[in-house]
Amino acid sequence: MPPLLNLSQGQLNTFSQCPRKFQYLYLDSLTVPPDPQQQLSLAWGSQFHLMMQQRELELPVETLQSETADLQAAMAALVAAAPEVLAETTEPPFRQSEHRRTLAFDGYLLTVIYDLLLLSATQGQILDWKTHLVPRNPDRLAQDWQTRLYLYVLAETTDLPPAALSMTYWFVRCQDPETQDLAPQRVVIPYSAPQHDRTRADLTQLLNQLSQALAADRTQDQPFPQVDLNQGLCHRCPFALRCDRTPAQTTQPSIDPCDLSTIPEVSL
Ligand code: SF4
Repeated sequence: MPPLLNLSQGQLNTFSQCPRKFQYLYLDSLTVPPDPQQQLSLAWGSQFHLMMQQRELELPVETLQSETADLQAAMAALVAAAPEVLAETTEPPFRQSEHRRTLAFDGYLLTVIYDLLLLSATQGQILDWKTHLVPRNPDRLAQDWQTRLYLYVLAETTDLPPAALSMTYWFVRCQDPETQDLAPQRVVIPYSAPQHDRTRADLTQLLNQLSQALAADRTQDQPFPQVDLNQGLCHRCPFALRCDRTPAQTTQPSIDPCDLSTIPEVSL
């Protein structure tokens, strides 16, 4: 029996968008370097996550903040905007940053890492820090595998009903289009039993497709399927040239800043 394969929300997003891209990234281990601006943004996000974790552990953050004043400003603005969950007096029975959970599902290990998890006897809240300058559409966020998997795993690993759970994205430095000021904004995604059932069914179907693709690769050396060209994903995919899917001038490596699955999860 093959070993259990670990899967994250980013990998589910990638496989659901294009199985071939999943193969390139996670089986063939091909890498795509982000451009310098994206690299800076990722470094800022990584520092912000680290600061929030330090704060949650009640460790000093001054040395981390000294290099970049706007990190301190962003953290202070978030604490001011979310006193109900971030104030030091808030004491639910359980709270932990960078909280990891793993769930065995249909021969795979589904792993999630919550930026901050708040659990009480009646409620469960997942908080996630995002550093995009523009908040994402709530409907698209609700469909993202990060939202769906994070809530699904929490419902499966606690005694709380799905309706008692929610996921809150804090976009910690949203830019006002007129003043250019940066301020945090949140998007709250509620959860429910019908959503939970739908996610279970969609997960079963998706992982079944992955198992079939893995088996075809293993037994027939058959590459994973490519996405339908009409979906319009190939022209901005860094593997377009490898896939023979686009003219040469559009094959520059790129990461869609609006696509959460293309932004690496910050691992601390
Ligand atoms: S170019 Fe298109 S088919 Fe190839 S990996 Fe990218 S999205 Fe998939």
